[in-house]
Amino acid sequence: MILHLKSSVTQNQAAELAAKIKAFHIMEGSLNILITGSGVKEVPQEAEDLTEKFWVFSNDIQLASSSYRNGKRSVRIGNVEIGGNTKNTIVIAGPCSVESETQIRQSAELLKKHGLTSLRGGCYKPRTSPYSFQGLGLEGLKLLAKMREEHGLTVITEARDATHIQEIIDHTDVIQVGAKAMYDQGILRACAKIQKPVLIKRGFGTTLQEFVQAAEFVLSGGNANVILCERGIRTFETATRFTLDLCGVAWLQEYTNLPIVLDPSHAMGYAYGVPSLTKACTAMGIDGLLIEVHPTPKTAKSDASQQLDHAQFEQLLKELKPVAASVDYKIV
Ligand code: PEP
Ligand code: MN
Repeated sequence: MILHLKSSVTQNQAAELAAKIKAFHIMEGSLNILITGSGVKEVPQEAEDLTEKFWVFSNDIQLASSSYRNGKRSVRIGNVEIGGNTKNTIVIAGPCSVESETQIRQSAELLKKHGLTSLRGGCYKPRTSPYSFQGLGLEGLKLLAKMREEHGLTVITEARDATHIQEIIDHTDVIQVGAKAMYDQGILRACAKIQKPVLIKRGFGTTLQEFVQAAEFVLSGGNANVILCERGIRTFETATRFTLDLCGVAWLQEYTNLPIVLDPSHAMGYAYGVPSLTKACTAMGIDGLLIEVHPTPKTAKSDASQQLDHAQFEQLLKELKPVAASVDYKIV
């Protein structure tokens, strides 16, 4: 249950009440909001006189639910707003991994050339083998921060586990919680305490319910800037790397109030399919895309097969704009 308390209720009173009824307490401006588990179907007696409005839920998708909030939440990434009423599709692009200063600068320059504002690049890579490239770690974060300074871009990188979450929070504008990391409550709880945007990727064996509940960890801790990212789930099919769950995207659009970003690169796993898949995603009227692009994909230290080269990316951008326009969205 979500309770909006009366405007006469002070923050201290709200905190006391939350402790009494074992609820989460968050603020939205001066509004005090309490959240209990979804099992609570009636306003607790202690809260009756202090409650202005309340919502009852059949499961623990609450703050993220479209039945709580009509219309989408908006999230600001630097100067770009997505979600809400914006109809912006932000293209977040860059290599799978930050590999060198030259490589990440080339990526930054590509974005700048096309008026794009958000650079991705992994520094702590969640690899399936301990013998492959694991990312540059802090050195990579510093390179991303340098690109932000040099080019005025916002930067996004993924947290692999909770041990380096603070470093990532300190150096980046958007925290990416990877498909394998979305169960890490150390990461989710740390992201709940900040106000920077958090992009949560769906684990490849994660139901939509579990996925959105991961977002609830961040929302219920007081950070409303959550973005969901569908990046493909594992099915019986092995010809492509994963299967992009567009049905799931329609479900998220219907039942949640969070901005939705799609990652066709990891879903497909092969560059040949990425452009058409990206256009299909865009036609759904989505809030953003995460696309892997590398100056020389063949030499990439991770995800070499799926990264577009710069020419392919530029061609895709050209083709993408009219697709977005056809559903009344704008590529930003
Ligand atoms: C990535 O974005 O490079 C990545 C590793 O993604 P995912 O967590 O979706 O596998
Ligand atoms: Mn990758």
